Amino acid sequence: MTRAFVTGVTGQDGTILARRLVAEGVEVHGLVRDQDDVTASSAERPPEVHVHVADVRDGPGLARILATVAPDEVYNLAGISSVAYSWEHPVTTGEVTGVGAVALFEAAHQVQEATGRQVRVVHASSSEIFGIPDRSPQDEHTAIRPVSPYGAAKAYAHQMAGIYRSRGLAVSSCVLYNHESPLRPMAFVTRKITAGAARIAVSGEGVLSLGNLDARRDWGWAEDYVDAMVRAARHDHPGDFVIASGQTRSVAEFVEAAFARAHIDDWRAHVRVDPQFVRPVDASDVVGDASRAKAELGWQPTIGFEEVVGRMVDHDLALLRA
Ligand code: GDP
Repeated sequence: MTRAFVTGVTGQDGTILARRLVAEGVEVHGLVRDQDDVTASSAERPPEVHVHVADVRDGPGLARILATVAPDEVYNLAGISSVAYSWEHPVTTGEVTGVGAVALFEAAHQVQEATGRQVRVVHASSSEIFGIPDRSPQDEHTAIRPVSPYGAAKAYAHQMAGIYRSRGLAVSSCVLYNHESPLRPMAFVTRKITAGAARIAVSGEGVLSLGNLDARRDWGWAEDYVDAMVRAARHDHPGDFVIASGQTRSVAEFVEAAFARAHIDDWRAHVRVDPQFVRPVDASDVVGDASRAKAELGWQPTIGFEEVVGRMVDHDLALLRA
């Protein structure tokens, strides 16, 4: 039986990945930061997941757990997930998202050396490593020039993945663009919009306050991005893979699609721009070219923009109507 070790198992991608691997019959071990998180996340997690409690900043603790589990596949999904948080906590961001990833690569390498069995590792990297990119769309050769503490920490981990690859560890780094699902926290604009549209549809009134409506993102469906990571883990030639839809839409287009799905005419009557949500520096022209993942991993996004929005709105409407 294949054994997988997943860090960040309480997050959106970790939850989706754990469900998928359990359904495949994989023995899944998940790392959770502390006991509070174990409790808070238990409703979404398949009961089959073996939970281990440790902070990724505790390298020796992580190595001990990995030595005990001796996994075939390792997925590094742990990390702080918000650019805004990284500006407020740059040191923690570096420790968790940067050094924590390296601690995991090191622990996986030690398991491989000790057992003589190959350990396959997938690291969840981010389009934030490109910062304000010098060309669009971005691919695996685009210059890495982060412009936030979050992007810099992700860039360090991404480059260390390449260094461990050259040391003989099968690490792939998936450079993930924005990917969404009903499991997205409200801090992300997509979920804020779909929950807001559902609230206004059910109550017949209300206002949604947003920041920059012209900001554009390359939005995909989280399950497709998790599928790319599983394919990368099982691929014979590890490497870097950009995972993206290849199309951008504006926040305004997201709002329009969400309100249409919730049968609200005239979304403009319900949306206000509030300066507190407008970012002083915001990534732009972020759009990925996933040709390599398509050619080498046989990966394809299966869900388009309208359906991503639609599924999230339907979920939020169902929550309110339950
Ligand atoms: P990010 O790409 O990881 O930062 O994902 P977010 O979902 O947080 O933000 C996506 C885009 O939506 C960014 O360009 C934001 O500036 C823009 N945006 C506009 N209004 C809002 C808002 O009210 N909340 C958030 N989080 N983002 C907003």
